[in-house]
Amino acid sequence: LKVVITEVPIPTAFGPAFEGERVRKDELRSQCGGGKTLAVEWVTSKRMDEVEDGKVELFGPDLDSVKEGGGLPLAVVVEVAGRNFQPDFEPILERQMHHLVNYVQGIMHMGQRDIAWYRFGKAAVEKGFRLEHIGKLLHAKYHQDFGTIFDKVQVKLYTEKEKVDEIAEQARKVYAERDARIEGMTDETTDIFYSCTLCQSFAPTHVCVVSPERTGLCGAYNWMDCKASYEINPTGPNQPVAKGNMTDERYGKFDGVDAFVQKASRQAINTVSFYSLLVDPMTTCGCCECIASVLPMCNGVMTVHRDYTGETPCGMKFTTLAGTAGGGLQTPGFVGHSKYNICQRKYLVGDGGLLRMVWMPKSLKEELRERLIKRGEELGYPNLIDMIADETVGVTEDAIYPFLEEKGHPALTMESIL
Ligand code: SF4
Ligand code: ZN
Repeated sequence: LKVVITEVPIPTAFGPAFEGERVRKDELRSQCGGGKTLAVEWVTSKRMDEVEDGKVELFGPDLDSVKEGGGLPLAVVVEVAGRNFQPDFEPILERQMHHLVNYVQGIMHMGQRDIAWYRFGKAAVEKGFRLEHIGKLLHAKYHQDFGTIFDKVQVKLYTEKEKVDEIAEQARKVYAERDARIEGMTDETTDIFYSCTLCQSFAPTHVCVVSPERTGLCGAYNWMDCKASYEINPTGPNQPVAKGNMTDERYGKFDGVDAFVQKASRQAINTVSFYSLLVDPMTTCGCCECIASVLPMCNGVMTVHRDYTGETPCGMKFTTLAGTAGGGLQTPGFVGHSKYNICQRKYLVGDGGLLRMVWMPKSLKEELRERLIKRGEELGYPNLIDMIADETVGVTEDAIYPFLEEKGHPALTMESIL
């Protein structure tokens, strides 16, 4: 018997109309994630007998127990079971949290995976919205929208720091496994790429085209995930895109992709490059994990991830960059991308590839350490990671240039980037 749910049992209004809403500082009651605390989202499969459909549990303090404007760590763990459920579907359900939570009046959601950010407005909390309602709405909407692929779902919410850290560690292993499923594939081995237009409600002209070697810029959707999403929902936001003929080998342009993007952006975007931030880069939306930018004086590029809140050599912090380049337009000189994409072989290859990378935050280098070393080796620079400057070297082009010179960074002797 299939569970059919038509109502979303929460004390606030709910629907796509509230999706673009912001929760400003003076309206903020409490928040989870966003740098001050950690918020992590994880959908995982369980056996049928391990899941009690509709059960929602909160372990730890709730939204109304913190001081006004205060933060709580949060882990949202969704356990799904079903005879037809495949682990491939986990990331698809997980990515729905972004727009579903945004459907709640007075609540704002950004990010995904272990960089999620929830902002709860005073009005919503006064009306009685509590963390358990996140579980209730996910249970209701998953059944409504994805009821054919699973049978039961239960939600556990954790707000004790130690437990949230522990779940984040488990979830990060799973994220890495999901990312790695794409490892052996290249863009040449398939004629089909996939679109993602999930973010058009925020950035109406934004279209991600996801190829094996260019994962979605939010980091949550790779080519496999888009493929699975299309199988679940053939009329949904992930459509197969016949890539067609390659019209520009260097920058990675395809006539089939361009035709699709023109239509999906309602003619706002004419042509996109898969492998360049300089020439017709893909559009960027506010979800991007990282934003790369050109550094003309160093003849290279830099990238910065969302967690790094300091200054960068392009003169802008991540938030300013996201404001500049993140609205769904093409902004030559800037492009949003996932963390995983940095060590994929086609990363900015039209602009010189990873050997152009002259600066990234130290924490990002550490997070990517193993893969950066491996990719550096492939490119003939096993110590590339040590040649890339970070904030301990400097946060201006002037400050990092002497370091690049001293290390003999390959970008300095490449053809002019502009
Ligand atoms: Fe899809 Fe791109 Fe938005 Fe990720 S950032 S959900 S891939 S449109
Ligand atoms: Zn987005």
